[in-house]
Amino acid sequence: MPRAAWPCHTGGVLRLSLTLLVCAASLARADYMDHFVVREDVGPRKAPYLGDAKLVLIPIEVAGFPPIDEAALQRFFSPDDPNGFVRYYETASLGRYRPRVTVTPKVTYASCPLPAAQFPTCEIARGDISAFTAGMDMMREAVKKADEAGFDFAPMDVNGRKGVADGWVDGVMLLTNVPFGGIAFPFAYFNRGDNLNGGTSGPLVVDGLKVGHLAIAGENDQFVMVHEFGHLLGLTDLYDESGKYDGLYLSVMGTWGYDPNIPLPDAETRFRLRWANWHQVQGRQRVTIKPVETSGEVYRLGTGDEYFLIENRGPGGSFDKSLPERGLAVFHVDRTVKLGGVEGNFVERILDCVNCDAYHPYIRLLQADGLFEIERNGRFGRGDLFGTGSFLRPDARGIPFSKMNEVNSTNLYAGTASGLTLDDVRVLDDGSIEVTLIAPETGQCEERLCAEGEACAPVTCGEQTKAPSCAATGGLWPVLGLLFLEKRFRRREQRVFARA
Ligand SMILES: [Zn+2]
Repeated sequence: MPRAAWPCHTGGVLRLSLTLLVCAASLARADYMDHFVVREDVGPRKAPYLGDAKLVLIPIEVAGFPPIDEAALQRFFSPDDPNGFVRYYETASLGRYRPRVTVTPKVTYASCPLPAAQFPTCEIARGDISAFTAGMDMMREAVKKADEAGFDFAPMDVNGRKGVADGWVDGVMLLTNVPFGGIAFPFAYFNRGDNLNGGTSGPLVVDGLKVGHLAIAGENDQFVMVHEFGHLLGLTDLYDESGKYDGLYLSVMGTWGYDPNIPLPDAETRFRLRWANWHQVQGRQRVTIKPVETSGEVYRLGTGDEYFLIENRGPGGSFDKSLPERGLAVFHVDRTVKLGGVEGNFVERILDCVNCDAYHPYIRLLQADGLFEIERNGRFGRGDLFGTGSFLRPDARGIPFSKMNEVNSTNLYAGTASGLTLDDVRVLDDGSIEVTLIAPETGQCEERLCAEGEACAPVTCGEQTKAPSCAATGGLWPVLGLLFLEKRFRRREQRVFARA
């Protein structure tokens, strides 16, 4: 798959052009970080996201920078840390995705591995043109050095698109102590150099296995790695890279300051990863929704590309600890917003991010208090989740939602009433939440996420007291934007926190 993208290629690696992107558009459907517009490209474009997986973590320590605390690293990436990487992904997936991380021997450098003339402090400034190739060389060499230090990559492939070993390492992460920022990088897509196996271009090949993409975190930041690894699984960024507002709250891929309070995935991300217990609403239903961290329950109102997802979020578990209260998180999803599924489209999503428009993003968190503080560049807080007595109903005026028409409703972005309703919310003492949900009486039960396997179909559709009716059981700049994907976000987060 990666090879097919290059007939349009005209020069060195830096010569990736919009021409390439246009040429690539005619190729097979596969893309990196596309939130599962394509699901069949696990291996070349995505890490496996269901079942057991063997992940590799390579610590890279450069002398003169704060040393890596290897014991702390081992703990955070072991299943024993209740607040760590492994337990995070197991909790978020309801145990459907079970990563185990092997930390390789530390790769060490006596001095910065980047060319000293260009990077005197080993810090890469955002948008630095010369950093692209230097950064790729550093990634390649880190994998090579881990291999040469005796680490055997061969056992690190137990999963793939069909749930069995597929010739691709299940996931590779690089954690360094230099100010590298955080990135997830589709190395195979851009590589025009050595593949470590006697060839050039495409994925790296070590111990007979391919490595197509890498998650990288700098400054010893293990929390950044939790987010970066989400990209390897197929997820795109859900914060607002343009800085107009914070982007999506309540999401590991959204606006999170990489503090120890890791947010669970938003309902759409969970749903797409097949980590949800998906309940499709049909007709009028009074339901009890249990906390998502233990139940995985996501209620879907509506079908097609535009719909609403509802889940029960709150503090109490190992994650989501920063939430101020428990309530229903209601997300308005529009899959037509900048998602493509065409090879190379991920670059366009970096230029023009899917959640950059506060009033019409891919995923919008509705706020029960109707103050629209998130859209107005404020913050998520108390009163935003749907708690006891709250509701969300159609707006008969039919006016599209915008800055000029800040009205909470279940209307679609076009302004048309969807006929969907969320009413009479009641938060119970045990943390579960009762709500009345209304959707069309028919035609809601046929959609599937995939042809076969876990969570491809709704667990229930329609009335749950009876037997479920369908419970079947461009140019150079984009590249540079990619290279320093997370850095700007972090700076902005610091600003936000300083203001708080
Ligand atoms: Zn990211």
